[in-house]
Amino acid sequence: MARVEHLHRRPIVTQERIAADLRKLGLGAGDRVFFHSSLRSIGYVEGGAEAVVRAFQEVFGPTGTVMVPTFAWEYRRFEVLRTPSQVGRITEVFRRQPGVLRSWHPTHSVSVWGADAAELIEGHHLMPGLGPDSPPARLAGLGGYVLLLGVGHNRNSTIHVGEACANVPYWGRTWPVPKDPVVVVLPGGEIIDVPLLHPPGCSAGFDAVGPVLEARGVVRKGFVGAAPVQLMRGQDLIDVVVDMLRENPAALLCSNPACASCRRAREILAART
Ligand SMILES: [Zn+2]
Repeated sequence: MARVEHLHRRPIVTQERIAADLRKLGLGAGDRVFFHSSLRSIGYVEGGAEAVVRAFQEVFGPTGTVMVPTFAWEYRRFEVLRTPSQVGRITEVFRRQPGVLRSWHPTHSVSVWGADAAELIEGHHLMPGLGPDSPPARLAGLGGYVLLLGVGHNRNSTIHVGEACANVPYWGRTWPVPKDPVVVVLPGGEIIDVPLLHPPGCSAGFDAVGPVLEARGVVRKGFVGAAPVQLMRGQDLIDVVVDMLRENPAALLCSNPACASCRRAREILAART
């Protein structure tokens, strides 16, 4: 065992360990969570992504709710049951589990397991993917947590929800919307056209929320296996984002001069002052 560990240069992490680490953060049966993850960051996970998914199901239980992003940027055709998630191995394994429901949004679908799944995904394809009534917003409204598992705030989609709730002038306007609707194949085989509305912009500057969350004492830090994790209530996060953007609407834009989305956002803000 020790030799294998040495070869991988990463700790060997079991499903039991992951479950124990989640409980150590204060999570348990009946809780709700939206989590963003990097499988590799956890270490060498015995049983791979499947073991991670089972650990979450074990900890939250059938009365709890577990949501992951299963985003896919396929602008022509999106098949709810078939199009793979493009945001990590754990999310792709998760969406294929029995009992998991995937929302019908062509680019920003989420997959949900547990008590509130149907209610959370209802009508997602009819609204902006990360808008003020999207599944991550609803989960936050129910007191749900956001968990960053080995990833930073640049992967924290609920911050986009906060931008929407703040109604920041650039929201949904920094990328051109494709002219044609996306063809969406529903789970029953029916085919519908879905226009894309208000695509979210750049998230490279989102780490700016970190110090504000800490100053308010609303983020818990720890580890799952070798992965550093941050746990916060979705509503606390949205409140922080709204307050930051009220004070400075450019607070969450990135500083990369080559970023077309943030450049456009600054133009929109400048035109309003
Ligand atoms: Zn940017």
